Amino acid sequence: MASRTRYLREKYLRRLPTAFCPGCGNGQILRAFVEAVDELGIDKNKIVAVSGIGCSAWISSPYLRVDTLHTTHGRAIAFATGVALSRPDLKVVVFTGDGDGAGIGGNHLIHAARRGVNMLVILVNNGIYAMTGGQSAPTTPRGVKTKTHPTGFPERPFDVASLVLAAGADYVARWTTAHLVQLKNSIKEALEITGFRFIEVISQCPTHFGRIIGVTDPWRMIMRFKELADKGEITVGVFKR
Ligand code: SF4
Repeated sequence: MASRTRYLREKYLRRLPTAFCPGCGNGQILRAFVEAVDELGIDKNKIVAVSGIGCSAWISSPYLRVDTLHTTHGRAIAFATGVALSRPDLKVVVFTGDGDGAGIGGNHLIHAARRGVNMLVILVNNGIYAMTGGQSAPTTPRGVKTKTHPTGFPERPFDVASLVLAAGADYVARWTTAHLVQLKNSIKEALEITGFRFIEVISQCPTHFGRIIGVTDPWRMIMRFKELADKGEITVGVFKR
């Protein structure tokens, strides 16, 4: 193991076996987050990480060696609002998924953005409810065959970053797991400012989404994100500072 990885693991992670499937993007996002915190030299005792239910909730809890709140499905932003209002001296970070954050918790998301609640939300968008077995989410691309739509998802998916931008967020960005340096830099930028900050990360779930689209190799999924971003079919970047 490279010494940098060992250093980050020992400083920021609890010694627990991972719950992520091999090749899951959540591990990459966790790495980008701890790299950002370490490069900024933020005291980890000043970070509170809040998550709801879903695979992305595990990014912070139980792995991150910071104070964590592991809450109920879709309600991470509501709990985080309480922390943010009572302890403005802390950096409040929510880790959520597309089902958790934009589906079940969608109302909390848009209103926290509208109110400018002081928190950073990192929303992992893998296009599906992964932990519960592969049901359609509000981000599932139209036509994809899921457990709940075996003949193809008939609806138009949410563009979550645009939704949060329209709701009035102070910082909005979107990256993919093919853009880890940009993602880390965005997390650094967002951690240094206040207001409602939102970063969407398009990520691979080889186990469920990969299986239904017939691409279970995580590397191929990541390269596909890069290709789509290069063609402009996935828009990446910082949309508001
Ligand atoms: S089910 Fe999908 S999102 Fe969940 S840990 Fe496995 S690969 Fe990751």
